[in-house]
Amino acid sequence: LTDPTPSKDESELAIEGALRPASLAEFVGQTKVRGQLQLLLDAARLQERPADHILLAGPPGLGKTTLAMIVAHESERPLRMSSGPAIQHAGDLAALLSSLTPGEVLFIDEIHRMARSAEEMLYLAMEDFRIDIMVGKGAGATSIPLDLAPFTLVGATTRAGLLPNPLRDRFGFTAHLEYYEPEELERVLERSARMLDVPLPAESRAEIARRSRGTPRIANRLLRRVRDYVVVHGGSATAASVDAALDLYDVDAIGLDRLDRAVLEALVRRFHGGPVGLNTLAVTVGEEADTIESVIEPYLVRIGFMGRTPRGRVATPDAYAHLGVRHADQTLR
Ligand code: ATP
Repeated sequence: LTDPTPSKDESELAIEGALRPASLAEFVGQTKVRGQLQLLLDAARLQERPADHILLAGPPGLGKTTLAMIVAHESERPLRMSSGPAIQHAGDLAALLSSLTPGEVLFIDEIHRMARSAEEMLYLAMEDFRIDIMVGKGAGATSIPLDLAPFTLVGATTRAGLLPNPLRDRFGFTAHLEYYEPEELERVLERSARMLDVPLPAESRAEIARRSRGTPRIANRLLRRVRDYVVVHGGSATAASVDAALDLYDVDAIGLDRLDRAVLEALVRRFHGGPVGLNTLAVTVGEEADTIESVIEPYLVRIGFMGRTPRGRVATPDAYAHLGVRHADQTLR
């Protein structure tokens, strides 16, 4: 359930799109970031210019794509969407930038995965709305300057630390998105349940919220699985139906899924609580190190189950307690 690139069928994607809030006022939580964005957008509107470039940083599913859409919607500008992995050459970026219309909002998801050569082109584009296109090779190579229409770049990243400083510095504002509180997820669920036409008692809403890893996307996904369960088994979305549906999908009592638990199990049982290096941990659970670092680890650290030390990852006594393993194991070794 926490896979950053889950395979979703068309209808699931359509539902996810339909559940997106369209304005800052409808966007739940992230109060600080919402206020900061509002000011940035209001100032741009009053001065009739494109808003400053915005960097959105945080784990997947916390609303980065949604916020990029809201920025375009609230500033009444068109939105162009791309992603770092799609920009593997400076030429890809040049084609994209030179086709923007004045004031357009350009969203680049996973901006930390863009090619180095494109990053360098982006510095100048962000600062001066200009790029230099290299023509030819070797001694005969020349660069042709090209003026761009002014635009607002919205970059999203799960790994702000991977962005080179010159790129980070060119964003007028960086929003660090935090995991949501259960009460906030309850509000997300209330809205989604209404839109999906699933009557959801307060008790069931609280239970799904508690088991959503602080992530709206997961809350919405679990709600759809609960809806499936009710459709198939009949009845209504009672706490018992929620429990049965979430158990079926291996979501435990505090919302950890199969991969979260595999990481904790490896850390506690195989490596006796650590410290263990990220790559070793990743190989042990058969997952990409990047997924462990940007998806699994931030939440386990946030709930106090995992610690990061200079010598590697360690499990905390709370992690031992959750797995039902005696913490003394760690100190005996
Ligand atoms: P990724 O980086 O993987 O694209 P993301 O952080 O961009 O993830 P979104 O795609 O914007 O996340 O959000 C995932 C889903 O969660 C959307 O369907 C959206 O409806 C819902 N959502 C996210 N944030 C909020 C919020 N603050 N209020 C209501 N719904 C939200």
